[in-house]
Amino acid sequence: MSDSEPGSPKTAAVIGAGIAGVSTAMYLQRDGHAVTVFDPERPGSMTSYGNAGLIATYATLPTATPGILMKVPKMLMDPAGPLSLRWTYLPQLTPWLLSLVRNSAPDRIRRNALVKSLLLNRAWDDFRPLVEAAKAEDLIYAGGMLRVFRTDQAFEGMKARELDLMDYTKRSYELLNADEIRQMEPALEPIFPHAIYSTDSRNIRNPGRLTEVFADHFVAKGGTIDANAVTDIARTSDGKWRVKTDRAENVFDAVVVAAGSWSRRLAKKLGIRLMLESERGYHVMIPTPEQGLNRSVHFGEEGFMMSPMESGYRISTGVELAGIDAPPDYRRIRRAVGAAEGFVKGLKVEEESIWMGRRPSTPDTVPILGGVSRMDGLYFATGGAHIGMSLGPTFGKIIADLVAGRDPGIDLEPYRPDRW
Ligand SMILES: Cc1cc2nc3c(=O)[nH]c(=O)nc-3n(C[C@H](O)[C@H](O)[C@H](O)COP(=O)(O)OP(=O)(O)OC[C@H]3O[C@@H](n4cnc5c(N)ncnc54)[C@H](O)[C@@H]3O)c2cc1C
Repeated sequence: MSDSEPGSPKTAAVIGAGIAGVSTAMYLQRDGHAVTVFDPERPGSMTSYGNAGLIATYATLPTATPGILMKVPKMLMDPAGPLSLRWTYLPQLTPWLLSLVRNSAPDRIRRNALVKSLLLNRAWDDFRPLVEAAKAEDLIYAGGMLRVFRTDQAFEGMKARELDLMDYTKRSYELLNADEIRQMEPALEPIFPHAIYSTDSRNIRNPGRLTEVFADHFVAKGGTIDANAVTDIARTSDGKWRVKTDRAENVFDAVVVAAGSWSRRLAKKLGIRLMLESERGYHVMIPTPEQGLNRSVHFGEEGFMMSPMESGYRISTGVELAGIDAPPDYRRIRRAVGAAEGFVKGLKVEEESIWMGRRPSTPDTVPILGGVSRMDGLYFATGGAHIGMSLGPTFGKIIADLVAGRDPGIDLEPYRPDRW
């Protein structure tokens, strides 16, 4: 990278102000670098705004397992099911889908889960310093995550599909019976005989606000936020990076692309092919019931999550493959959430707001993290998909280590941005 020594202060551009970009900016700033974050949207207002708020240390399972793939045709036909596809988008999606299917082979699933678990194992250790620095402790609690099942069949199916992988990747969990569920969550209707409890996951009461609080802290410490979209990135003749917006051009020692689902477009300008698709997901906010839940609860048969948030209950679900730009289709989530009324005592499914977000997803479900060969000073921090909120600070810490020339403490080969 340029002519500055490893470890010496540098100028750095971070593209994207979601949890990945803002956490990276904070970690770079802690090393004394002069950091500018580019984003035309408010920090934390895109995908990092509306997720379920779990620091999901349990989540090593990939999107596609052989069991799930068998169910795809039925899921696509179900108008309230969690999976949907815009058929007009299928031609563009095909390479990614084929790679997803290749990655559903049992040996790939185990390898990819292990690779993700190495990041998840350190997620809270990397989160905590940022939460403490930004004095955002009130936005986090250690509630874990409960997945409940009404039927023996769904519970046994989950066990057959997932427990072996949970054990292989050393996730901590407990299997609970109806009595134990009732003790943990008295507000649930007594219709769930089975649950799996992920003990060490943490919960964010408002992920959008947490990202915003991080960004405010970054600015208070002298960081810059430039509210313009980056239109181009190019290498200068002396090995630095020119970052262009419609308003200006600036040169930096280092550039980090953390633009979520939009990162693929920026990578293309640099001649790098990212296998990155937008896995769109939805939420509906409803009023907090009188007797509340103590943590996020996932309903196994319906496939949606209910999370107590700072202002109301968030029901989130959905994997819609339709590209970045297609308008939202709220019909599925609206059909799905009706079922929630019978699950929690006194719950009223009255829609207060509805939202769609775009998970940046790779077909191997492994994030895109690290530098690019023969492009010193260029880094990527994206591809967090279903665990992108959990991993933002880990992305940031690892990128800061690379920029500083420190050992990031992890072999980054599996996450290479130029692996396709
Ligand atoms: C329904 C749902 C539930 C979820 N639940 C969880 C959960 O419980 N736990 C979890 O860990 N994860 C969860 N996720 C996933 C998580 O929300 C995402 O992986 C994560 O927020 C991605 O963060 P990001 O910073 O990469 O992207 P984003 O938050 O999307 O931020 C990317 C930013 O880049 C900006 N940008 C784009 N192009 C440019 C450009 N050219 N120039 C400048 N800026 C640009 C965008 O404006 C945007 O602000 C969920 C997602 C969904 C949809």
